[in-house]
Amino acid sequence: MLTIHTLILGSLENNTFILADDASGEAGVVDPSFELEPIIDLLEENQYRLRFILLTHAHYDHTINALSLSNRYTPTIPIGLHPSDQSLWKDGCGADLFGLHFKPDRDTDLHLYHGQILSLGLEEIEVRHTPGHSPGSVVFILHTNQTVIAGDLIFYHGIGRTDLPGGDTIVLTRSIQTQIFRLPRTYHLLPGHGPATTVAEEIDHNPYL
Ligand SMILES: [Zn+2]
Ligand SMILES: [Zn+2]
Repeated sequence: MLTIHTLILGSLENNTFILADDASGEAGVVDPSFELEPIIDLLEENQYRLRFILLTHAHYDHTINALSLSNRYTPTIPIGLHPSDQSLWKDGCGADLFGLHFKPDRDTDLHLYHGQILSLGLEEIEVRHTPGHSPGSVVFILHTNQTVIAGDLIFYHGIGRTDLPGGDTIVLTRSIQTQIFRLPRTYHLLPGHGPATTVAEEIDHNPYL
């Protein structure tokens, strides 16, 4: 089992997750959002060794501290993103749509792909490509925890918005049906915003599906 720490950061109440293998002390940060200090404090308090930074997708509220976190270390920490969201990353992560400015000074350097297995110590994280909210959206599945880090694909009784550039409701619905709803009903879903839910709860009660 991985230890999963959740930090709720910023005005959009983004969930930033710190995944850690306590046996080895290795950790990964998923979607470093608006505040950097709470993330660093948690890593340092637990004396975790940061292995990678993973992005569920390139929207700025999920990526805004990826570079600042990566650049604190020498060598820098790899930043994982699916190639289909690379152009969104280069374009500033959509921050301009919200009247904000964000300009990444380098490309991401860990290319995520469907079926990829990432390791923290002896623990494994499965990457699945789940487009629809954005072209390169992915989820991270922690099978020993029976848990999915879901980004903005699906929320408690909600689904990701598809009105931003690259969004597609039909594609999003297919991603949920094929990659989430075929998992065991007991699996927990940890969305990018708001409360946790389960596969069973969303199959039975999600009004959008
Ligand atoms: Zn998003
Ligand atoms: Zn979001």
